[in-house]
Amino acid sequence: MSEWETVVGLEVHVELATETKLFSHAPNRFGDAPNTNITPVCLGLPGSLPVLNRRAVELAMTIGLALGCEIRPSVFHRKNYFYPDMPKDYQVSQYDRPICVDGSLDLPNGTCIRIERAHLEEDAGKTTHLGGDDGRIHGADQALVDYNRAGVPLLEIVSQPDIRSAEDARAYVEELRAILIATRASEARLEEGSMRVDANVSVRPSGSKELRTRCEIKNLNSLRSLQRAVSYEAQRHVDLYEAGESPTQETRHWSEDGRTHTLRSKEEANDYRYFPEPDLVLLEPDPTWIQQVADSMPELPAQLRQKLMDQAGLEIEDAATIVSRGMSQLVLSAIEAGAEPRRAVTHVVQNLVIDGAEQLDPTHFVELIRLEQSGDLTATQAKQVLGEMVATGLTPSEIAQNLGFESMEAGELETLVDAAIADNSEAWEKFCQGEEKVQGVFVGAVMKASKGQADGKAVTAILNQRRG
Ligand code: MN
Repeated sequence: MSEWETVVGLEVHVELATETKLFSHAPNRFGDAPNTNITPVCLGLPGSLPVLNRRAVELAMTIGLALGCEIRPSVFHRKNYFYPDMPKDYQVSQYDRPICVDGSLDLPNGTCIRIERAHLEEDAGKTTHLGGDDGRIHGADQALVDYNRAGVPLLEIVSQPDIRSAEDARAYVEELRAILIATRASEARLEEGSMRVDANVSVRPSGSKELRTRCEIKNLNSLRSLQRAVSYEAQRHVDLYEAGESPTQETRHWSEDGRTHTLRSKEEANDYRYFPEPDLVLLEPDPTWIQQVADSMPELPAQLRQKLMDQAGLEIEDAATIVSRGMSQLVLSAIEAGAEPRRAVTHVVQNLVIDGAEQLDPTHFVELIRLEQSGDLTATQAKQVLGEMVATGLTPSEIAQNLGFESMEAGELETLVDAAIADNSEAWEKFCQGEEKVQGVFVGAVMKASKGQADGKAVTAILNQRRG
């Protein structure tokens, strides 16, 4: 593989987090009963006319500006093709004049990936095939169509073929996702389809600048699938070249058996008979509006990571985890209120991988860390209290009381430690001779006797005192 270089360009579709659809007042909402969020515009009924959603344009500009793009006057086109989940038989999209052009995205490892363009377009509905294999059309005996998604606003973000490995492809999508979450422009949920990734993959001899035949892998719906599919596809191309053959340009499908399969030969742009949408005018956001969007830009992931590293002394990996989960504010405010950075980070990285964690009240979080720092709660108890805080919204003291976590009196703990020493004299002898690992015997015994209320660190401290 080292004689070959992987070349990847990604096309990412993101659903914009608007209240309504791109050209109609129908709600833009995931998970509702099928065919309830529709209007004549979504169904392309004769005589219905599209009205552009201002908020969708604003979110498209937000993403574009966050990616350093230039915002340009743009034109909507009709992209013609037949598909049962697209009732108009064309998709309104942007073609040669997209709203955002020439941006870039820096990966956390410093690699810069250029963004060619980002354009606005409408989503199609959703078809479900029944009776077939794995929900696919082949062998199915029924097809159900849901138009709730038809007309949902999308931004399609197209990178240059600057990505050089499957790991970087994954890092690009993770970073893009973090930007979408930070700007609240999209929920960016791969598993719900509000973010969908297509990967264009080719290989070339290392050091060469040519672009060889690429294959497009459609609809990768998890980071893991993306990474696996890119690795697989690059290796497939290498194997073909090394056998004296070459890949054909086509669209492929990733299946979880770990391979890609031919889906269809690649359409060319002229197959779509693009022409300007006659029912919509030129979209030309005025400079004041663009400036307003730029001025209201929140802090972006790269800035937040830097802040966590500078102000909280975190390593890049922890900073990245916290930022990608949208919890940097929680950590920063806890540290500002006097929490030990290490404790705040441990909770977020290890103990807060639960639904609803991002809604945790920062003042409650700080209070919990104080209780832990003062020794009123042990680390194990704090973890349990934290889970309850997310589930109930109650304060840590209320929860600690409900759970019967009252801190032990200092004298009480010493008595338990002495009892553990007396009960385990052989282990004590070894411990006094410097055999550190037998320490667990005493900590375990004290934990058991105190029903988990003892603080492990306090027990160790007393043991060391006793040993002299
Ligand atoms: Mn598209």
